Amino acid sequence: MGGTSLLKESGPREVFCGLTSIVWLHRRMPDAFFLVVGSRTCAHLIQSAAGVMIFAEPRFGTAILEERDLAGLADAHDELDRVVNDLLVRRPEIRTLFLVGSCPSEVIKLDLARVAERLNGQLNGRVRVINYSGSGIETTFTQGEDGALSALVPLMPSIKEKQLLLVGTLANAVEDRLITLFNRLGISKVASFPPRNSTELPAIGKGTHVLLVQPYLTNTARLLKDRGAEIIKAPFPLGIEGSRLWMEAAANAFGINQKMVDATLGPLTLRARKALQPHKDQLSGKKIFLLPESQLEIPIARFLKRECGMELIEVGTPYFNKEMMQSEIDLLPDTLRLVEGQHVEKQLDRIRKELPDLVVCGMGLANPLEAEGISTKWSIELVFSPIHGIDQAADLAELFSRPLRRNDLLNNKKTAKI
Ligand code: SF4
Repeated sequence: MGGTSLLKESGPREVFCGLTSIVWLHRRMPDAFFLVVGSRTCAHLIQSAAGVMIFAEPRFGTAILEERDLAGLADAHDELDRVVNDLLVRRPEIRTLFLVGSCPSEVIKLDLARVAERLNGQLNGRVRVINYSGSGIETTFTQGEDGALSALVPLMPSIKEKQLLLVGTLANAVEDRLITLFNRLGISKVASFPPRNSTELPAIGKGTHVLLVQPYLTNTARLLKDRGAEIIKAPFPLGIEGSRLWMEAAANAFGINQKMVDATLGPLTLRARKALQPHKDQLSGKKIFLLPESQLEIPIARFLKRECGMELIEVGTPYFNKEMMQSEIDLLPDTLRLVEGQHVEKQLDRIRKELPDLVVCGMGLANPLEAEGISTKWSIELVFSPIHGIDQAADLAELFSRPLRRNDLLNNKKTAKI
């Protein structure tokens, strides 16, 4: 791992759970329904994390079992069958039903795999029932997507033909743009996982080269490898440099020459650098502290350091997977303070001592830190914003320059009053 040392920390944590990922997965696959098998607490989490109305079913596709249903296992099975049957009568357009486990369902040991199997038998192929866990016990919120995708891998058909498979949820417009660029490079067969329709799962096999879009899909990547796919080693497509290296790695895997890559990506790179400059001016020399939550911290830190000139005080990550992160770590300085896990009190002490200009953290910590005069950025915004690819580098930088600019304006106002 270069010369970077990894510190491990454990203790109280301040992160969202995997249920949060339902919000972006449902947007990606509007024909799927996510039935949270949990308590009202779980419903409130989704409401506050995503700012959505949990009962607005047509848009958000979630439903909650009452706490009393979880009191007894036998009752819980009956109740779950009843809720599912009611739901499918009311919503005949649902093609895939995800049963999403939670802390309460895990604590009472409700076997959702068995429930899914039983329901699949009853529904006879009309609707596909799949289960995964979104529980917050020892997990962080992006693991919800890893769980959902891992549950879909065994259902993917097989293929031998050579293809590029982009893995991880992207905004549709960003995905279209990236596929166009890969086509221009000469890679004609490009598929995406998860797909836009839950029933149109891409095929997978020995000729499949997987390019990970998100850094938090460890289990999914392992399962795809087990199905014969090859995982392309590359930094993640965040920022101009990361996105370019990511696309170049795919081009290499497909035997495309550097001249073609330069001709296709060169003009984009120049344009993106110009758009990035005002944000770089704002961010350069500023100190940033990233708390562990989204698992995007390492690629984001690499972008902020190398392309925006920020000073990295500490980069926290909930988990560190050396294999997945090696291409990122190779681009970061040996002096990086990288911390895996969390003891939130100790981290807050370090923030107060080192007074960074910006802290990337969960929503629960943002307000208290702002009240202490420290600017913050919610890490969850990183998964809801279209930030991937060369074209999006300026938008990604703006997520960090905006709070600093707002602070400058407020401080100027205060000074003017004095
Ligand atoms: S799954 Fe667990 S952590 Fe998430 S909202 Fe429900 S009870 Fe809370």
